[in-house]
Amino acid sequence: MNTEANISRADFLKKIPFMLFRKIKPHWEESAAPQQSMGALIARVDISRCLAWGQMECQLCYLACPLRDKAIEMREHKPFIIAAGCDGCGMCVDACKTINNTPALDRVPSSGLERGK
Ligand code: SF4
Ligand code: SF4
Repeated sequence: MNTEANISRADFLKKIPFMLFRKIKPHWEESAAPQQSMGALIARVDISRCLAWGQMECQLCYLACPLRDKAIEMREHKPFIIAAGCDGCGMCVDACKTINNTPALDRVPSSGLERGK
């Protein structure tokens, strides 16, 4: 039996009134446009703000990353972003915000940065 609790995503989308979707779509495309022109985003560490680079113990960003050791590594107790492996999800940025008023991580467009270092 197909109850509201276990409805599939495809069925749910079919139930959205078409007119409602038409009203949302222009705003959706507008908000997506700047992101597309910036290219893919990747994380970047500002070592002047990072606790680990300041000789304190911290690895929250590393622990929060779903692509740990592919997108971010701890080298000698300091975080390094591996540009080629980072998908820009921002979970490391959110983790850093929990301990820093001004986070030591942000996301920047990958275009123009050398990848794979
Ligand atoms: S969470 Fe922030 S302060 Fe901590 S190691 Fe990562 S970048 Fe540095
Ligand atoms: S942006 Fe996402 S994938 Fe990239 S280092 Fe941060 S948590 Fe990992």
